[in-house]
Amino acid sequence: MVSTGNPERMWWSKDTIALVTGANKGIGLQLARELARRGLTTILTSRDESSGRKAIESLLEEGIDRERLVYHQLDITSPDSVDALADWVSRSYGRIEILINNAGVNSIGVPDLEQAKYVVETNYYGTKRVIEAMVPLLKPGARIVNVSSKVGDFSYLKNEWNAKLEDIATLTPSSIDEMIQEFFRAVEAKEIKARGWPCMGEEIPLAPPEILAGYSLSKIALNAYARIIAEKLAREKEIFFNSMCPGSTSTAMSGFKGHSVEIGADTAVWIALLPPGTPEEPLPHGRFFMDRKDVGFSQMPVFYDGQFYKTLGDLPKSK
Ligand code: NDP
Repeated sequence: MVSTGNPERMWWSKDTIALVTGANKGIGLQLARELARRGLTTILTSRDESSGRKAIESLLEEGIDRERLVYHQLDITSPDSVDALADWVSRSYGRIEILINNAGVNSIGVPDLEQAKYVVETNYYGTKRVIEAMVPLLKPGARIVNVSSKVGDFSYLKNEWNAKLEDIATLTPSSIDEMIQEFFRAVEAKEIKARGWPCMGEEIPLAPPEILAGYSLSKIALNAYARIIAEKLAREKEIFFNSMCPGSTSTAMSGFKGHSVEIGADTAVWIALLPPGTPEEPLPHGRFFMDRKDVGFSQMPVFYDGQFYKTLGDLPKSK
């Protein structure tokens, strides 16, 4: 049984430190807004310093308390940038309670090797790098939330990796690396579909089947990693790590089609702020949520504006 706790029970204070990646715009900016508004000390990070600082200014203009917002640069693809952030957090606060991994890139079109590597390096390896750097700063009871996607649904894999990812007792980060290398070989050979890699374009009329293959594989890898690491973190450190999909949300990434960022950010904020668990009703970990519901890692629905749909092709036209 997953605890959803009492949503009204406010356990946090200004001494609760939350960090959001890719928070200069889109869903990340909304996440920072929601957390700072509720009074947590929120570290807004962005790869480009000037757009991050502008984002802070816009939140201050909305009336958010200056004391609740802190800026730090973070490019998740740069080991130096990630290390510098971890070092600064350690010296400034000594800990964080909430880490929201939101930063990500899309790659639309049948990917070539360069595009596939770019999207996987950012969405998977970049996020993994941030988690590894931050885990030593997370104390028992801390939460990690990955802003992931329905495109990371394991059932898009039509090869042996589908079953391998489901076998969480044997799956390791090195097997995920192996899967990625195999995918890259298929991209190079132009055999994405033939070798059973994600072809979610099949759900969208007129799109080439491989249209989102790189983005999809990056989120599949991320979801698989989150699921296995969540087990370990819960067992060894009492850290609660979950993933979510914001649904089709109007941001730069989606060409500003979709529901509001308020709806897109809601589930991540909800998971991050769930009240502490109890022995009878522990906090969830290793789950995948959409619209505050545990939807699993395979055969997920598509979420748009308060409703679930079966496939991307079922979304209302123009969304
Ligand atoms: P945006 O394009 O608006 O925001 C993406 C954010 O990630 C930006 O702040 C961007 O920075 C940042 N970013 C990209 N690369 C890096 C990097 N190397 N280091 C640090 N930050 C980086 O898109 P969304 O708000 O829509 O996306 C947020 C998350 O939501 C993503 O993980 C996405 O995959 C996920 N998502 C979005 C959906 C949607 O419909 N919008 C649906 C499902 C999932 P910069 O401004 O510098 O580019």
